[in-house]
Amino acid sequence: MPDKSQPLLIQSAQVVRASGTLETCDVLVEDGKISAVSRNLTAPSGIRIIDASEMVMLPGLFDTHAHLREPGHEDSETLESGAQAALRGGITGLVMMPDTHPPIDNGGMVQSVLDVASKVSSKLDFHVAGCISKGGRGEDLAEIGDMQMRGAVMITDDPNSISNPQLMRRALQYARGLGVLVAAHCDTPELTAAGSMNDGRISYRLGLPGMHACSEEICLVRDIRLAQAMNTRIHIQHLTTARGVETLARYKKEGMAVTAGVTPHHLIFTEENVGEYNTNFKVKPPLRTHSDTLALQQGLRAGVIDVIATDHSPFTEFEKEREFANAPFGMTGLETALPALYQNLIRPGLLDWATLVERFSRAPRRLINVPVAAIEPGQVANWVLFNPNGVSHFNRDALGSKSFNTPFLDQTLPGQVVMVMLKNQILLDRTRA
Ligand SMILES: [Zn+2]
Repeated sequence: MPDKSQPLLIQSAQVVRASGTLETCDVLVEDGKISAVSRNLTAPSGIRIIDASEMVMLPGLFDTHAHLREPGHEDSETLESGAQAALRGGITGLVMMPDTHPPIDNGGMVQSVLDVASKVSSKLDFHVAGCISKGGRGEDLAEIGDMQMRGAVMITDDPNSISNPQLMRRALQYARGLGVLVAAHCDTPELTAAGSMNDGRISYRLGLPGMHACSEEICLVRDIRLAQAMNTRIHIQHLTTARGVETLARYKKEGMAVTAGVTPHHLIFTEENVGEYNTNFKVKPPLRTHSDTLALQQGLRAGVIDVIATDHSPFTEFEKEREFANAPFGMTGLETALPALYQNLIRPGLLDWATLVERFSRAPRRLINVPVAAIEPGQVANWVLFNPNGVSHFNRDALGSKSFNTPFLDQTLPGQVVMVMLKNQILLDRTRA
C-alpha cells in the first residue's frame, strides 16, 4: 500500500467535471482532498506526479444493486471479496441486496451486516438494503421502520417481485411515511415460474421454457401505478424491455417520481448470447432481443433510465455448472462493468463519458441520498483513473470476486482501471505496473 498521506499531482487527465464537461486538467490531491483542478498546475517540490495524458479521470462509480453472499454463502462472495471486486472495477460505493441467509429483514440483521461491513468501509462506501417482506417470502411486511432506523437505505425483495399487490400497496404506503425508497424487481412469478431465458425464437430452438417480456411489463405497470396511487416514489431495479422504457417515459412525463436502472449486461448482450446453453448468460430478468437492447441504450442516453446498476450475482462454479434449466440466475458485474461499457458503448460512440458518470456515479448516489462524488476543489478524494489504451484481463487470478460466473472470464477487454482513490487512501495503483 503506497503512503497514504503523500500528495499527488495528476497531470493532463481528461477530467469529467461536475458540470458534465470533459476537460484536460491537472488535479492536485492533498490529505485525502482535491485541492486544485486547473490547467498547468505547478508541481510543489517532492510531490508524486502521475502522467495521465491518455487517461480519463472520473468520480468513483456507485452500484445500487449488488448481491454479496455474507452471511450464508461465503463460498461465493464475502463482503471483503465483494469490496475487492468493486474497487478493481472503479466502483467506490454500493448498496448490498438483502437476500442473504438469513435474509436482511429486521433491524438487528441490518445492524449486524453493517458491523461486519465496518472492516471494509475504508475501501468502500458500503450501504445495505432491507427486505420488503419477512424472509423475502412475499407474505408479511418486514420491520421496515426498524431497518431504516438502523441504516437500511432501500427496501426490496430482489431477486423476487412482490406477487401480492396488496402487500406491495402496503409497503409503498408505509415507505411514504418513513421516506424510505422502495425498489422493485418486476416479474409475474405465475407467468415465469419454470422459465430460464427470454421467451421467443431462441428459447423455442433450445427447447427451454421461456420468460415472456410481458411478465416483467405487467408487474412494472402494476408497481408504478400502485406507487402513483399511494403518492410514493418508486425505483424499478432493472428494465429490460423496449415497452418498459416506453412505460417509464410516459409516467415520467406525467411528473411522477419514478426512477429506473439497467444492468450493463442488458445494455450489451441479447438472448442470442445464450448460444448453446451457456449458463453465464442465464440471468433474471433474462437477456432480451436486439431491439430491446437498443431501446435500453436509447433510454439510458435520454435519461428515461436513471442509473446503471450491475446486479452483481456471484455463484460458485459448482452451482453454475448445472444444466441450463437448473442453474441459478445471475452473473457477476462489479469489476467488469466499466471496461465492458467502455468497449461496447463508449468506444463505439453510443454513450459519452459525462452520461456514464451521471448514470453510474452521480444519479445512484442521489437515489439513496448520499453526497455525490465530484472532481472539484474542496471535494473529498473519490476518483478513478481509467486508461482507454490499457487492457483488462479477466482470468481467475486477476478477479477480486470469489466467483467466476461472468461471460468475460478469460477474456481481455480494452481499457483498464489503473488507479482508485477514496478519501485518504489509494486503494488501487497499477500506474507502476
Ligand atoms: Zn432483480
